Amino acid sequence: MGSWEENVRKVVPYVPGEQPKKEGMIKLNTNENPYPPSPEVLRALREIDTEGLRRYPDPSSKVLVDAIAESYGVDPEQVFVGVGSDDVLAMTYMTFFNSGRPILFPDITYSFYDVWADMLRIPYEIQPLDEHFNICKEDYRKKNGGVIFPNPNAPTGVLLELSDIEEIIEANRDVVVVIDEAYIDFGGVSALPLVEKYDNLLVVQTFSKSRALAGMRIGCAFGQPQLIKYLNDVKYSFNSYTMDETALAIGAAAVRDKTYYKQTVEKIVSTREWVKKELRALGFVFEDSMSNFIFAAHSSVQALYILEELRKNNIYVRHFHKPIRISNYLRITIGTDEEMKKFLKTLKNILEKC
Ligand SMILES: *Cc1c(COP(=O)(O)O)cnc(C)c1O
Repeated sequence: MGSWEENVRKVVPYVPGEQPKKEGMIKLNTNENPYPPSPEVLRALREIDTEGLRRYPDPSSKVLVDAIAESYGVDPEQVFVGVGSDDVLAMTYMTFFNSGRPILFPDITYSFYDVWADMLRIPYEIQPLDEHFNICKEDYRKKNGGVIFPNPNAPTGVLLELSDIEEIIEANRDVVVVIDEAYIDFGGVSALPLVEKYDNLLVVQTFSKSRALAGMRIGCAFGQPQLIKYLNDVKYSFNSYTMDETALAIGAAAVRDKTYYKQTVEKIVSTREWVKKELRALGFVFEDSMSNFIFAAHSSVQALYILEELRKNNIYVRHFHKPIRISNYLRITIGTDEEMKKFLKTLKNILEKC
C-alpha cells in the first residue's frame, strides 16, 4: 500500500444546516428568507438567452458589479462579487491573511471562520464575547494578522455600534479588517460609508438572506479599488469564471428592485419583534437580535429536547454544540407570520408537557 494519504490535505469541513425536503415542514434552521425573491428575478430568468450559454461568462461580472455599484452609490472599482459570500470570504482569507500572525475573531461566531483558517494554514486567536454576547473592542488592539467578524454577529444576532467598529478599524490600520454584513439589512447600520475613509476595510454582504437568493449563490464585497484589485487578482488566479451568466443577470435584477426588498425585510423585522415577545412569555432568554433569527435558551428546558420535539412536528431549528457555553441555545430563523404562529403553538405544547 502506498503512503499517498500522508500528503492529503486533511480538513474538518464546515457543516451547514440540514436541508430536509419534507412536505409541510417549517424550516427555521438556515436563516433563509421565507419570502420568494423579487418578481424581477423571474423576469430576468425568462430573458436568459440559452443560446448564449455556450460561451464563457464575462469574467469581470460587469453586469452585476455595475448594478451593485449603482444601487449602493459606489464606483464599480469598489465592488467584488463571488459565489455567495462564502466564496468572497474564502478569497478574502487567501488574499489578505498572509502575515503569519494570527487573525482575530470572536469565540462565538460564524463557524466557517476557523475552517478556512485551518484549511489555508492561517493561525488564529479567538476572542471571547462578554456574558451578554457583545464583542469587546479592547480585545482587537493586540498585534494580529487581520480581523474578521459578522455584524450583527452570528449566531447571536447581537449588533456592534458603528462607532465601536470604527475604533477597531482605527486600531488595526496595518491589517485588513473584514466586516461580514450577512444580516445588516435586518436592522443594523452598515460600515459601507467607512470604506471611503479606511483603505484597510472590506465590507462583505450576501444576496442569500435579505434578498432571498440563497439558492443562486451571490455575494459581494466593498472596499477601496486597491483592495478590490488584490481580490480580483487572486480570483483570476484561482477560477476566472466564478459567476455564471444566470447568476449575474438574476443578481443585477434583484439588486435593482429596492421596493420589493424593503417590503420583505420590513415584514421579517416586524415578525421578529412579535416573536421576541412571545418567546419571552414562554420563558426563553436571549440577547436582542438585529438579524433574521433569534438565538435563545429556555430558562428550564434543555435545548436538545426542544429541538427533537420540534423535529417530530416537522419544524427545524438549529443547534450548535460548540462552544460549550452556547450548547443550550437554539437559533430560530424568522419565517412568515403563519409559520411562526404554528411554531409558537407547537413550542407551547412541548413546554407544557415539561
Ligand atoms: C449566511 C452567512 C454567510 C454566507 O452566506 P452565502 O450564502 O455564502 O452568501 C456568511 N457569513 C455569515 C455570518 C452568514 O450567516
